[in-house]
Amino acid sequence: MDYANALLDLVGDTPLVKLRRVTDDAPGLVLAKVEYLNPGGSVKDRIATRMVEAAEASGELRPGGTIVEPTSGNTGVGLAMVAQEKGYHCIFVCPDKVSEDKRNVLRAYGAEVVVCPTAVPPEHPDSYYSVSDRLVEETEGAWKPNQYANVNNPEAHYETTGPEVWKQTDGRITHFVAGIGTGGTISGTGRYLKEVSDGRVQIVGADPHGSVYSGGTGRPYLVEGVGEDFWPTTYDRDICDRIIEVSDGDSFDMTRRMAREEAMLVGGSAGMAVVAAVRLAQELADPDAVIVVLLPDGGRGYLTKVFDDTWMGQHGFLAPPPGERTVGDLL
Ligand code: PMP
Repeated sequence: MDYANALLDLVGDTPLVKLRRVTDDAPGLVLAKVEYLNPGGSVKDRIATRMVEAAEASGELRPGGTIVEPTSGNTGVGLAMVAQEKGYHCIFVCPDKVSEDKRNVLRAYGAEVVVCPTAVPPEHPDSYYSVSDRLVEETEGAWKPNQYANVNNPEAHYETTGPEVWKQTDGRITHFVAGIGTGGTISGTGRYLKEVSDGRVQIVGADPHGSVYSGGTGRPYLVEGVGEDFWPTTYDRDICDRIIEVSDGDSFDMTRRMAREEAMLVGGSAGMAVVAAVRLAQELADPDAVIVVLLPDGGRGYLTKVFDDTWMGQHGFLAPPPGERTVGDLL
């Protein structure tokens, strides 16, 4: 019989798929690392397992304990999966820009969700960072993975994502492109690829317009899961050879194209990373370029946002908003 003993055993080993249409005939290969095929639906499944197991080993997390974490959703799903398997309780703290769909997913896995305002600085008592700190103090047996400062976050990518990409491309990868949230993905994967290629592989960060990684101050943008208003310690400032800044409008446009032209239903941060990868391919104009771009999560958590014409129109991304056809139009 061929079966997994637990869902957690299926984390990682995601496929690489060639992008054929959204590249607009740019020379070279653009390969997508499809992280939404992880069992919890995102790249964050990789770090959840590693962070929890390290905390158990160090004694920070004890049997029956509670995992408390500020998360935009994906890390929460990964942690909730691990928590179920191992019998922990979860409380997640989300900024209010995170869609209701995503919060409901966390609740469906049995977690408690606390929502905080997005438009306050990190040091404000109502910020999602401050609220999660308070919950840790007040909850017995609480442990905060702190994905923004946990070395096991980049380490999970150094150990798994990097080697997978290297092996899948037979060492022919020339560029790795990813969005930066905590920076775990790009720092861990990037460090591995730099080491194994003697510095040959170029690491390219994709960043929303306004975020600190591309020189902004953290001005609010609408793409979720990427960009920051502070510098997390999980981000290695020496790893990126280059950062490509992408607007919300371009990110969302590409996110919709990915679904319609490549049949890949992805989230806005994946669309953003693909914009950067395609720009890079066009600019390099090198038929031997092998660009790997990481797609962090799937699009089902964004149906009422990027895939909704009314929402897009309200935010000025679709002009004029296309009207829906009624039965009358068809007669
Ligand atoms: N995209 C999405 C949807 C995410 O949730 C995250 C994680 N915050 C990222 C991209 C960025 O990944 P990382 O934190 O590893 O930089």
